[in-house]
Amino acid sequence: MKAIRANISRRDFLRGLGGTAVGTAIISSEVLVAGCAQSLSKQSSSAQNTESGPQSASFAQTSPGQKDTIRKGPARAIDVHHHYFPPELAEEIKRHGKALGVEAVAAKEGGDASFSFTFAGGPPRRPEPALAEVEKRLKVMEEGGILTAATYAATGDVGYGLDAERGENWCNLFNEGLQNLIKQHPKRFVGVALVPMQDPPRAAKVLERAIRDLKFSGAVIASNVNGKYYDSKEFDPFWKKAEELDVLIIMHPGDLPGAERMRSYGLRVVCGNPFDSTLSLGFMIYSGLFDRFPKLKLCLLHGGGFFPFHMGRFDQNFNIGAGREIPAVSRPSKYLQHLYFDNLVYRVETVDYLRRMVGTARVMVETDYPYELGDWKAAEKAEALDCSQAEKDAILFANAKRLLKLP
Ligand SMILES: [Zn+2]
Repeated sequence: MKAIRANISRRDFLRGLGGTAVGTAIISSEVLVAGCAQSLSKQSSSAQNTESGPQSASFAQTSPGQKDTIRKGPARAIDVHHHYFPPELAEEIKRHGKALGVEAVAAKEGGDASFSFTFAGGPPRRPEPALAEVEKRLKVMEEGGILTAATYAATGDVGYGLDAERGENWCNLFNEGLQNLIKQHPKRFVGVALVPMQDPPRAAKVLERAIRDLKFSGAVIASNVNGKYYDSKEFDPFWKKAEELDVLIIMHPGDLPGAERMRSYGLRVVCGNPFDSTLSLGFMIYSGLFDRFPKLKLCLLHGGGFFPFHMGRFDQNFNIGAGREIPAVSRPSKYLQHLYFDNLVYRVETVDYLRRMVGTARVMVETDYPYELGDWKAAEKAEALDCSQAEKDAILFANAKRLLKLP
């Protein structure tokens, strides 16, 4: 694996993202990429911006139920939902795009000149400049009481449409770029690896490298892989490795089914994201994934989608039994022991409902930085809960520390 170039300055990258036309990709034979090109039709445009845009205002609003919780003392929360795009990758794409299968898109004359690229000729992906920026991010973290962020790719950057070898290469490059950020700010960021789920044995390999060599703390996966859900046993090599390494897997919604019906009013992110997390978890639970891999630890985002609210419905469907052909041996709520949740539900009373449903030991803070549907003051929602300080501390940092194996 060729080491990623780290010598491009952030200013250069941000200039490229913000207003300088990106030239045609430079092809280099240095980069090892083989295999035939694969259609990217599955890398649908719905996967491109599953988070909505970055926040323009300082912070998300305080919820009606939130008490006055002006933070005193140093930031101490651990954020388990935090996105980043390594600036070095833009340079790599510009230089070696053809070989990578990830090509920069030349700006049209008079059109939007911000940096964009395509995965093997698929729809253009334009990473928001805030994804690659660091200084403002650190300020937002400090103001939001976040000491450390578990940091990973946005689902638009997973590259599942790449062929297996290019997918592996892309994930390794991404992870190396993320490691550069961690090296510069070791107390503020921990790495959550991108893995090529389009090829589960390679995903296992990339995960192992990220954990053992890059010292990452887990992996992020999308809620489906080019439309395929995790009831398929073809993903078993990845789950086996995750179990063996005893690492947290964070599942983020992306590439939403029916996205074309949710184009209006922001419904794709409001309804579509929690829906696909719920659907994906349903495939996992009912198919018996957690029976086959009893040590698996899975973190669900956006409060676990609709699952905590509809856990009884999931159970009832299992109880009906006949005709369902459900391989799982236990009712869905029994599998809570495998599941963890972020607190991206905005309202203190909803966070309280979540912790009562799933248990305080299973809830962690998130910001979904830098997206506008994130909650950059989510730590205050934990501080405002009507529970003991020990329980608040569990949600704020202790659960994440344990699961991410942080010192
Ligand atoms: Zn997110």
